[in-house]
Amino acid sequence: MATKKIALVWFKTNLRLRDNECLLRAVAENDEVIPFYCLDDQLLRTTKFGFKKAGDFRLKFLRESLQQLDSDLRGVGSGLLLLKGVIEKEIFWLANKHGAQKIYAEKEVAPEELTTQKKVTDELLILNCAISTFECRNLFHSSDLPFSIERLPDIFTDFRKITEKTVAVRPVFPAPSVIKSPPIAALNLTLPDELNSISISIDQRASIQFKGGEQAARQRLQYYFFQTQALSSYKETRNGMVGERFSSKFSAWLALGCISAKEIYREIKRYEIIYGSNESTYWLVFELLWRDYFGFCMEKNGKRYFLNSDSLSSGSMSQEHFETALTNWINGTTGVSFIDANMKELKLTGFMSNRGRQNVASYLCNNLRLDWRYGAAYFEQQLIDYDVCNNWGNWAYLAGVGNDPRTNRVFNINKQAATYDPDNTFQHLWLT
Ligand SMILES: Cc1cc2nc3c(=O)[nH]c(=O)nc-3n(C[C@H](O)[C@H](O)[C@H](O)COP(=O)(O)OP(=O)(O)OC[C@H]3O[C@@H](n4cnc5c(N)ncnc54)[C@H](O)[C@@H]3O)c2cc1C
Repeated sequence: MATKKIALVWFKTNLRLRDNECLLRAVAENDEVIPFYCLDDQLLRTTKFGFKKAGDFRLKFLRESLQQLDSDLRGVGSGLLLLKGVIEKEIFWLANKHGAQKIYAEKEVAPEELTTQKKVTDELLILNCAISTFECRNLFHSSDLPFSIERLPDIFTDFRKITEKTVAVRPVFPAPSVIKSPPIAALNLTLPDELNSISISIDQRASIQFKGGEQAARQRLQYYFFQTQALSSYKETRNGMVGERFSSKFSAWLALGCISAKEIYREIKRYEIIYGSNESTYWLVFELLWRDYFGFCMEKNGKRYFLNSDSLSSGSMSQEHFETALTNWINGTTGVSFIDANMKELKLTGFMSNRGRQNVASYLCNNLRLDWRYGAAYFEQQLIDYDVCNNWGNWAYLAGVGNDPRTNRVFNINKQAATYDPDNTFQHLWLT
């Protein structure tokens, strides 16, 4: 009798059933699959910058996304197995226990994630179990680009102009209708305390009360596109700072892959057929291209981002001065009300508008003259929508140390406040 083909599906930042090539391929090519997520000890540690890698807002959103994924997997006959610990040891244990011959996983591009993947691959060699990876993050597939990643243009506009003309977004994969798996224990029983005990709530003044999971992502898309048609005025409102409608707020769901960029793109195209295309419908695709670009930049530049601290002039600064300046920035007590309002919002909600992020990052680098990596590391802890490529890429870009280095990305904070918060509504909201 032929041996059963058993595979593991490693969920990471692709926590969805639809448009998930890893899952679909695994189901098609094997007799049984075991979907799992591993809460890596690394995610729960404090970094060398003194911040947690994932703060409570992020962990809460992760828990909700995992619960939804488990429920969706159970709906098609499977379930989500939750592991916790040293990732390569845990996966080895699981593969060994089930005699898995293959692991299907999302392709990684960032240094830490690649190191983890390498450790897992090395451990599994002993079991003769191979890892196959699939691109799940971007609109464009890297093999459809008309240049190699090494030759990725250093300027976004060059990237956009070439790719817009020559690259097509691939179709969305359907969700599998049935998944055959061995029995998997209910997720609620296996949730570790680090996830279970989080009771943080998002401040009521937040632009949006984020809830993790594929279902909530799709509800948000329905709301922003088809219920309110806010998409048709996105270009005019996207620099706003207050309320649910000024921008899509897709970022948190995209960060954990509760929805794919390709699916959002397909829905934009469907929307355009019904309500018409305009500059705003185009602009959301434009922003998704920025997201792709930062993904490809990470693949190209890798470790260089994390090492580079050219903007750092805190070398001559005393430790005490450095700590006071950083603490005031974090707590929103710098005395510059536009900065303080944004930093309070981030602290109390885990979100900040794009306009806010640009200003507080510029302020940290250019006014406070602190090492930009501390700002990026605090964002990593705090942002519900933390995405390694977007966060470190945007910070490096603003600090002038990215692939498009310029030293003049200095924001005039008073002018920005006057333009984007002319009647102080935003500052009032967070500072009173
Ligand atoms: C210093 C700094 C740090 C950032 N850190 C992150 C991060 O960790 N995670 C993250 O998703 N975004 C990050 N961004 C980008 C951007 O601020 C957020 O994606 C956006 O504010 C999220 O809100 P939204 O979904 O309503 O955006 P929308 O304006 O509705 O845009 C739609 C989508 O396009 C993408 N997008 C928009 N702007 C950018 C951009 N500048 N770079 C990359 N993608 C973009 C996002 O996926 C976003 O969800 C950062 C920007 C700055 C300046």
